[in-house]
Amino acid sequence: MKSFASSSDLADKAQTLEILGDGVYALTAQGDPNVGAIEGEDFVVCFEAMATPVAASAWLQRLREHTAKPVRYLVLSHYHAVRVLGASAFGAQVIVAHDNTRALIAERGSQDWESELGRMPRLFSDPSSIPGLTWPTATFSDRLTIALGGDRGDLVLAYCGRGHTEGDIVAWLPGSKILFAGDLVEAQAALYTGDAFHRDWAAGTLDAVAALGAEALVGGRGAVAHGREAVDAAIAQTREFLATMLAEVGAVHSAGGTLRDAFGAAHAALAPRYGRWPIFEHCMPFNVSRLWDELSGVGRPRIWTAERDRQVWDQLQD
Ligand SMILES: [Zn+2]
Repeated sequence: MKSFASSSDLADKAQTLEILGDGVYALTAQGDPNVGAIEGEDFVVCFEAMATPVAASAWLQRLREHTAKPVRYLVLSHYHAVRVLGASAFGAQVIVAHDNTRALIAERGSQDWESELGRMPRLFSDPSSIPGLTWPTATFSDRLTIALGGDRGDLVLAYCGRGHTEGDIVAWLPGSKILFAGDLVEAQAALYTGDAFHRDWAAGTLDAVAALGAEALVGGRGAVAHGREAVDAAIAQTREFLATMLAEVGAVHSAGGTLRDAFGAAHAALAPRYGRWPIFEHCMPFNVSRLWDELSGVGRPRIWTAERDRQVWDQLQD
């Protein structure tokens, strides 16, 4: 029997800080959640907050080797605990997210915290340092532009439609064509779709991401995609993962099969290409469970609790 989710993944990952352009930083970590930062003329915008303030402090220490400017904005791409619960370490004036992200934190933030802590304990360095749920202080529905000052141009925060969650946003630098895509795009890491809208994500939402025309892309996990070809490949890989799940789970669903059958079919179809990528085994039971619901007409993802996580895992991943 496989150990639950990522609970036995306890070896530290190497973090790599990349400078993508003048004052544009990405920290990747071999498939752990990525974070980033964009310098304004006299402030910094940080993208994603990590799982705990202690984890975030280590990232900020590295960033401080490059800039001493204060963090004015902390941008949260979506509500997931490993992306938001480190927020207090940034001392940001403004915490920005999508309207739906704020609503999701209110609706299910506590359950998600407990669920993700159980699934990915290694990411929660010193969980007692988390002061509570993270509340965005500025939200928007479509687009929010931050003027970076000087000749640095704008940072555009944009909603591309429902995808990985109901409230994902991307951070886009039109001047340098660098995109922070959050979990809407993964580069050589498996997708987590347990809170997703698969059909929207695979179609219009990824179309909107692709239409930006990025020349460097920082996905939610995995290496930075450098150059148009690598960006297109990351988006295509994300789309193919979703399309394969839709085809396999959809076929079993419409033939009157069971959730277990659907899990077996989707796993078998995806494993040759994606099976060795980070968090593949961890994600698949939750992914198939949500897609099964979506195809059964369950409009919004059901709330994951620590207890439901274990039930679904025990039902499918043995
Ligand atoms: Zn996520």
